[in-house]
Amino acid sequence: MRQKLVIGNWKMHGSLAANEALLNAIKGGASATLAVCAPFPYLAQCQALLAGSAVAWGAQDVSAEARGAFTGEVAASMLAEFGVGYAIVGHSERRTYHQEADGTVAAKALRALEFGITPVICVGETLAEREAGQTEAVVARQLQAVLDALSVEQLGRVVLAYEPVWAIGTGKTATKEQAQAVHAFLRARVAERDDGVAGRMAILYGGSVKPDNAADLFSMPDIDGGLIGGASLKAEDFLAIGNA
Ligand code: PEP
Repeated sequence: MRQKLVIGNWKMHGSLAANEALLNAIKGGASATLAVCAPFPYLAQCQALLAGSAVAWGAQDVSAEARGAFTGEVAASMLAEFGVGYAIVGHSERRTYHQEADGTVAAKALRALEFGITPVICVGETLAEREAGQTEAVVARQLQAVLDALSVEQLGRVVLAYEPVWAIGTGKTATKEQAQAVHAFLRARVAERDDGVAGRMAILYGGSVKPDNAADLFSMPDIDGGLIGGASLKAEDFLAIGNA
């Protein structure tokens, strides 16, 4: 059976005091594996409060570079020093506001893997692309850069996240059928490279997942959990999604 995984993406939210309350409240865990991806300055706090608990922690980005004169970047080796288990790469907010190209996203995934960090590789189409019937072409292109860069062994250590851009932070969720169709498409693409890896790969759905729609989405055969933005900031909601 594939791992069931629910990952929170705090984005640029939080404070030491608010995080402490949130982390202590979710520490007990849920029936799915839980992780929180916090802003870089809070990773030490996550490590201090979550080490030994059922909840893992992660970063929201990682540099494609190993080290050196890259002001503002954070290296995978540094994240590893703080026990980081996951790094989101290619979130649509990074692709949109920081012009991250597909190749850069793949390079970031590779760098995370080099340090034993699981990259959570995000793909997804905009509303205009969906309306133009380009959903599969867009996610296939985004995924292809990863397939081109990673070996089968490396591919076996990633998590994919399908996040339709039009559903992120908008309150609009893909229907479970819409999401399932894209998840099955992505898994089939991975299967063209390696059937076994595709069968084992966790593919998460992200985009306005809330306690009242999570169970429905997660009931689909190719949806293995969620990448949760807004609802991951409320312990009650995040745990409810984890239990869904
Ligand atoms: C996200 O940021 O990855 C996300 C899915 O956000 P939200 O759940 O708020 O739509």
